[in-house]
Amino acid sequence: MLAERYPYYLANRPRQSNAELAVTDKYSGEVVTRVALADTPAVEEAIAAAVRAAGPMRRLAPYARQEVLEHCVRRFRERAEELAFALCIEAGKPLRDARGEVTRLIDTFKAAAEEAVRGGGEVLNLEVSKRAEGYRGFTQRVPVGPCSFITPFNFPLNLVAHKVAPAIAAGCPFVLKPSDRTPVSAMIMAEVLAETDLPEGAFSVLPTRLEDVGPFIEDDRLKLLSFTGSEKVGWELKARAGRKKVVLELGGNAACVVDRDQSERLDFVADRIAHGAFFQAGQSCISVQRVLVHEELYGALRERLVARARALRAGNPRDEATTLGPMIDEAAARRLEGWIHRAVERGARVLAGGGRRGALLEATVLEGVPADEPLSAEEAFGPVVLLQPFGSFEDALREVNAGRYGLQAGVFTNDLSRAMRAWDELEVGGVVVGDVPSFRVDTMPYGGVKGSGLGREGVKYAIEDMTELRLLVLRQG
Ligand code: NAD
Repeated sequence: MLAERYPYYLANRPRQSNAELAVTDKYSGEVVTRVALADTPAVEEAIAAAVRAAGPMRRLAPYARQEVLEHCVRRFRERAEELAFALCIEAGKPLRDARGEVTRLIDTFKAAAEEAVRGGGEVLNLEVSKRAEGYRGFTQRVPVGPCSFITPFNFPLNLVAHKVAPAIAAGCPFVLKPSDRTPVSAMIMAEVLAETDLPEGAFSVLPTRLEDVGPFIEDDRLKLLSFTGSEKVGWELKARAGRKKVVLELGGNAACVVDRDQSERLDFVADRIAHGAFFQAGQSCISVQRVLVHEELYGALRERLVARARALRAGNPRDEATTLGPMIDEAAARRLEGWIHRAVERGARVLAGGGRRGALLEATVLEGVPADEPLSAEEAFGPVVLLQPFGSFEDALREVNAGRYGLQAGVFTNDLSRAMRAWDELEVGGVVVGDVPSFRVDTMPYGGVKGSGLGREGVKYAIEDMTELRLLVLRQG
């Protein structure tokens, strides 16, 4: 179902090039398709086209932006199985997870279609002192202009959508560099965008080599850089981004607290933690990595989690029965296996999993991992979860806040005042009470603090970043 070769898209049009990227099936390692690569002159041409498109995009009426987004929703529905298959192959996602991502892609575009016609602003009373008598203010939001987007491998479609759909709703042209490991689904999205009436130059989707990425970051004509990816690369790019606005959606090592009052629903809690930890082989920025369990429930929850980890079916993501696919490549699985071995040498115990076959790492549960081990302090980004007992809720909150990340946290408690305390005190972008930190829907504000990033996505919030307030002052009389 994949094409033999995909062109890149420059100023809304497909273009071939001599240089190409081989895309592999992440389970078998075979090359399954090729994608044309854009070089630096092509990237510069795309940016110049986006600059020219800024005016036409700003003037594109809200209903027309909405029609573009609605067209995409229709076409994504029609091509849903093809998109899911592409994700399954290029990212190694089990088919059921891949279909879930396509559903979320559609949710993201639907939300953007609604936001496109919302607009609105404020009427301000400016009469704060005598000299301002007779003055009134009004605000509207105007698009920032051409935007630059760089995206990661783990949700190659929906995280692209989280930049592209709000940009269309906001009226911003954009250039996008998808992950070189998973470019195919983004190229299918480009095919759909090319069917619409977006002004010429409004979008370019350009797989590039790293040596050709410079203009995406450094060109001052681009007014916003929105990057989703690793912590190290993200902060480095910010330092090179000049005057443009920067949004960074980076990594995490999400924690989940299970309070002592959860004994009645431990099966549910274990189901959710297993899902949050092992879904898409743990390669989600809000994958559950650390679980802090009240000491009275520790043994019972540990037993349930171990059983769930062992029940997963690891294998070929194309197989409908597979629930655990490979990590993105063997190097990533080896890196995590090495962290597990290191932790074990310092006294950690492997309760389930720990084995590896190529890029497939078993769903792994550990306890007794020292806090300064990479497995605890860094982002694992794989199917690994660490258990740790706690005595007091305050200690658990302190433990969640330890370390340099702060994306989301989950708290299972029935106690309203503890839930509110967690919301107040946890240094994260979002607190999920009654579920795992991995919970996300596409309209909620989403992003991190500390090392995890800057700014928020979630359609409405991304639009805020892609627009600026413009004030009108009116003096009467
Ligand atoms: P990555 O940082 O290696 O790559 C992300 C993108 O940046 C890719 O397109 C890559 O080609 C590009 N890139 C890499 N080095 C670059 C450089 N020096 N200059 C310019 N571009 C460069 O990340 P990844 O491995 O693809 O993705 C996994 C990471 O993304 C994890 O850390 C994960 O937590 C994070 N992530 C965060 C969120 C979020 O919303 N907070 C969502 C998904 C993934």
